[in-house]
Amino acid sequence: MPKSATKVLIVGAGVIGLATACRLAESGYEVTVIDRSGAAGEGSSKANAGQLLFDRVGAMGSPGFLRSLPRTLFDPSQGVRVHGLLNPGNWRWVDRFLRECTANAWQENTARLLHLARASQEAFDDFRSRHEIHFEWRQPGKLVTYATSQALDAAQRAAEFQAGFGGRHEVLATKECLALEPALEGTSRPIAGAIYLPDAEVGDCNLCCREMARVLVEQLGARIIQDTAVTGFRQKDRRVVAVECGSQIIESDLFVVATGIDAPSLLRGSFAGRKPVTSVLGISLTYAIGAKPPDLSVTDASGKFVMLRLGDRLRVCGNAIFSKSLRARPADYRALSSKAQALMPEAANFAEPPMAWVGARPQTPDDMPMIGQAGAENLFVNAGHGSLGWTLAFGSAEALLQSIKQHSS
Ligand SMILES: Cc1cc2nc3c(=O)[nH]c(=O)nc-3n(C[C@H](O)[C@H](O)[C@H](O)COP(=O)(O)OP(=O)(O)OC[C@H]3O[C@@H](n4cnc5c(N)ncnc54)[C@H](O)[C@@H]3O)c2cc1C
Repeated sequence: MPKSATKVLIVGAGVIGLATACRLAESGYEVTVIDRSGAAGEGSSKANAGQLLFDRVGAMGSPGFLRSLPRTLFDPSQGVRVHGLLNPGNWRWVDRFLRECTANAWQENTARLLHLARASQEAFDDFRSRHEIHFEWRQPGKLVTYATSQALDAAQRAAEFQAGFGGRHEVLATKECLALEPALEGTSRPIAGAIYLPDAEVGDCNLCCREMARVLVEQLGARIIQDTAVTGFRQKDRRVVAVECGSQIIESDLFVVATGIDAPSLLRGSFAGRKPVTSVLGISLTYAIGAKPPDLSVTDASGKFVMLRLGDRLRVCGNAIFSKSLRARPADYRALSSKAQALMPEAANFAEPPMAWVGARPQTPDDMPMIGQAGAENLFVNAGHGSLGWTLAFGSAEALLQSIKQHSS
């Protein structure tokens, strides 16, 4: 049991920093969270796809990923652009990523992700049993549709490997998909079949962040400092004594960097477990629901996009653009919107302009986040959660707590 006086300063009020703050505050630490934004969950956590996929997470790097890359790159409708990887700053990432694209590495990385996701599900459920939070949560299940029978077969093999770690899935024929999700009626996207994940959950990650911030302040005695950017650390011997925010200094006993895509620029030194992190942009479009919104969360695997309902809104998320600038081309937005309309023609009023957002997935080469000590004795990191940060948040928070305890004993 930590001394109640142990102060921890968490940099970053995204879903990772907030989940970490909740876990540490509940364990008796005196928590302060600091963020450069004016509200919680305004970074990558803001308008993400809204999926909590605890039993079917998988690593991006695989032999299949490499095999499909040439086709993906010459098919702009998939929304993937990798030329940002030619930037010398990304070469280390590319080198490490290519080594993760073997069958063995995919299995190892996926197994580690599944363990972390399972722990996350338990810890998130526990947290929600103690604190009532509202974030448009539902458990509608999910369809992942495939355009060809070869793609469906490959997905089935992957799902069978994942099933070894728990969870349920079924393989459905085209007709069964349409019967299960009537919003697909009239689709002009190719569907050769689908993997159905009956336990998949959905929700609004930004709302969840705001609710966690509320619980932290109102119920867990934590402090949140907004509109304040951390510019560096003040160190004495092998310990950090304070963060610098321009000319302002904030002292603490422990420090956690949970700044997502910006973690590498804040953590300048080397440490065991340090990984390169690259930014993979995704586009998110949010519409008012139309006459026939989906009940299920649906991923169109060949078009690489997700559609799901959040209350009276329809969220569409897609694209994988390796780029540092948080900008997409107007044509990218149009292409994503047309694919969504083709998949579920009456799911939203597609003529109305949606709320459009671009976010960066903080991607490590093996998909596993950096969680643990980060150079100085009392400096820790919890960052690099890629396309799965919300799903992994509470498991990562628990892993960080254990690392802090181990290094404090
Ligand atoms: C398009 C898209 C779709 C996604 N879909 C899903 C999904 O369906 N399910 C899922 O589980 N995950 C999904 N993700 C991934 C998930 O959103 C991210 O992994 C997660 O948001 C990362 O959270 P984070 O807290 O590490 O980063 P962030 O949310 O970016 O939080 C970092 C915070 O640090 C702050 N910060 C940065 N630097 C400083 C500084 N120097 N000083 C002070 N504050 C600072 C920022 O303001 C920010 O608030 C998606 C991501 C994208 C982009």
